[in-house]
Parts: sequence; structure tokens; C-alpha cells
Amino acid sequence: MNKLKIIQLGHPILRSQAQPVENFTDKQLQQLIDSLIETATAANGVGIAAPQVSQSYRLFIIASRPSSRYPHAPTMKPKAMINPKIIAHSDEKSKDWEGCLSVPGLRGQVPRYRTIKVEYCNRDGQLQQEVLTDFVARIFQHELDHLNGLVFLDRLESEEDLFTEEEYQSLINN
Ligand code: ZN
Repeated sequence: MNKLKIIQLGHPILRSQAQPVENFTDKQLQQLIDSLIETATAANGVGIAAPQVSQSYRLFIIASRPSSRYPHAPTMKPKAMINPKIIAHSDEKSKDWEGCLSVPGLRGQVPRYRTIKVEYCNRDGQLQQEVLTDFVARIFQHELDHLNGLVFLDRLESEEDLFTEEEYQSLINN
């Protein structure tokens, strides 16, 4: 296991469609999952998608836990989601803060579906279905966007919903 280099906005891989994962017994896939978990944890991220470490595959990690970047995040065991899809969603969207390890120094108020029903394969290749709400649903939608070449900036309703990290920190700490 090792920490991987996170690419940043402007790198063409972040703007590309990622390829589906086909071989779940591939040792390199399992190593990539472990390294993604380690990389997200070390960077205080609550999720990371494979394209962010230059691996253009349909795979991301959700690793929600409270940190200085997301003090109110729920705690959960890091989970790999492979070939993920949204199969149903609420009509209702809510706006809340997002940042991105590939877009350092910025935060935005991003509209996302509040509740989503998702399907993905776990790291053993078993198909899973789950209903996700609020913050974890938000992470899923953010990471799924990375597999389709989108970043949270593309989802903003207004430029006024974009903040620097410093202004965001002073806002949430008051
Ligand atoms: Zn991101």
C-alpha cells in the first residue's frame, strides 16, 4: 500500500469518462482500492475517485468521518464502490458545502439529490443496492461525477456559491 499522487483541475484525466472495471480478481485492482483508502484518509478526504489518482476506472471510495475539512461528517468504514450507478432519486435537492482534493483551496454550495438509490459492486465483485441520504448521498454524487469527467464547480448554480477555503473555515467556525 502506498499514498498516491492526487491530480488537480486542469489535468485531462479529470475531464475524461472512466472505463468500467471488469476483472475483480485482478491483484492490481485490490491494491488500488487499498491505496485509495490510504490516500483519502491521509488527505482528510471523505471520498476519492480512481481518476483523481490518474486511474481512469469506474471506482471510488466513500470514507466519511469527521475531520478538520468536514467536522460534521458521519463516521463509517471506508467502502469501495465499483461500476456505481444511481437507479432512483428523490425530486428534492439540497445545497450544502463541498470541496475536492483535486480542487484545493475552494469550497462550493452544491445542489444534490437528498436521497438516492444506488447500485454498485463491492470489492469482491458482489452487486449491492443501497439507499443513501444527505451527506453520504452527496459524497456518492460528487464521486460519481468524477467518473464522468465532472467536478463540483460544474454543478454550481451561481458563482456566488463559490468560496475560498479560508472564508469557508471562518464561516463554519463562527
Ligand atoms: Zn472531488
